[in-house]
Amino acid sequence: MTHHAQALAHLVEHFGVKPDQMTPARVRSYDQALSRLPVAVLEPMVQRAIDTRTPRWGDLPTVAELRADAEVCRLELVKALGDYGCASCEGTKGFIAVTHADGVRMERCNCFRRRQEQLAALGLGVAPIAALTAAEGRDWASHDEG
Ligand SMILES: [Zn+2]
Repeated sequence: MTHHAQALAHLVEHFGVKPDQMTPARVRSYDQALSRLPVAVLEPMVQRAIDTRTPRWGDLPTVAELRADAEVCRLELVKALGDYGCASCEGTKGFIAVTHADGVRMERCNCFRRRQEQLAALGLGVAPIAALTAAEGRDWASHDEG
């Protein structure tokens, strides 16, 4: 089972959704929405939905609600990495002055690059969930972008 299918199963179970309510079209909508989310946010998102969403026994939180929860979790995971910055870029936050033949330029410090790599490794990127899942309001079936 994929991570997002697992997250969906967890939600269906917790919110008491009966199997016959999960029509193939519905499953597909949720499945596609969740599959666009970074894997790292799935479990925290499920936990947050369970903790904070008003129980509507027999129904799931909407895709938009789950996406909002996922974004909160993404920001928390990013924040948990701590602030970047090091002795070399103190005062210029993530930038260092690099001397080239034609002069001095401000460039990204290595600590900033390391942070970008950490985010990439977690699949968290820098874009909000809304940008990753911009298919809202569109026909899911016609939206094939990754
Ligand atoms: Zn630095």
